[in-house]
Amino acid sequence: MNTHCLRCTRALWHDEPAICRHCETLTSRQLRELPALFQHADQTAALFKTRTLDAGGSGQPAHGSPVRLAVLDLTANGGTVARLQAIEDAWRQALAWDMGADRRRTDIAGVATFLTNNLRWACENYGEIADDLATIARLHSQLSGILTGERPARTFAAYCDQDGCGGQMAITLWTRTATCSECGTRYEGTELKHLRTEFDEPASGGRTAA
Ligand SMILES: [Zn+2]
Ligand SMILES: [Zn+2]
Repeated sequence: MNTHCLRCTRALWHDEPAICRHCETLTSRQLRELPALFQHADQTAALFKTRTLDAGGSGQPAHGSPVRLAVLDLTANGGTVARLQAIEDAWRQALAWDMGADRRRTDIAGVATFLTNNLRWACENYGEIADDLATIARLHSQLSGILTGERPARTFAAYCDQDGCGGQMAITLWTRTATCSECGTRYEGTELKHLRTEFDEPASGGRTAA
């Protein structure tokens, strides 16, 4: 019999067998917020990919920044949805239910709904629940960090593409317009997205022939 919450170590009430209601409520809120957070990260990943393809058309992946790697890792196959589905599968097994079909990479709403609907059961009956709550909290925090730009490299340098101008502009993923302080050229929307940035391959003197 547990006397303290397996997640936060608060003393348990008699009707809380393993996880306190506080932790359960917190997790429930995190699960509710996950779909919107994931969609934001996925849009950010799409933006990164556009930028990579446009950068000189070399087709080679640009250097990874911590933000870019986190975004791509969380939204890729094997990312957020797969990690949550591993929890879903384990709960299904413990409940002796059929395994669900493999979820699509973007089926965050489906997996979050399953976990929400069975959260009370898991908090009361599932042995590995503390690990699962930690995984959900970690994913929530990583995705929130992308949304709020808390992670490193909130701003990054974009390079002016006018001939002979070495100007730099500090922008974020959400910057709409920027003006080069060296030559005064103004960039807007997609023009801005097409500029080389500090995350892209360094400019080389001569293009490598294919
Ligand atoms: Zn707790
Ligand atoms: Zn310039």
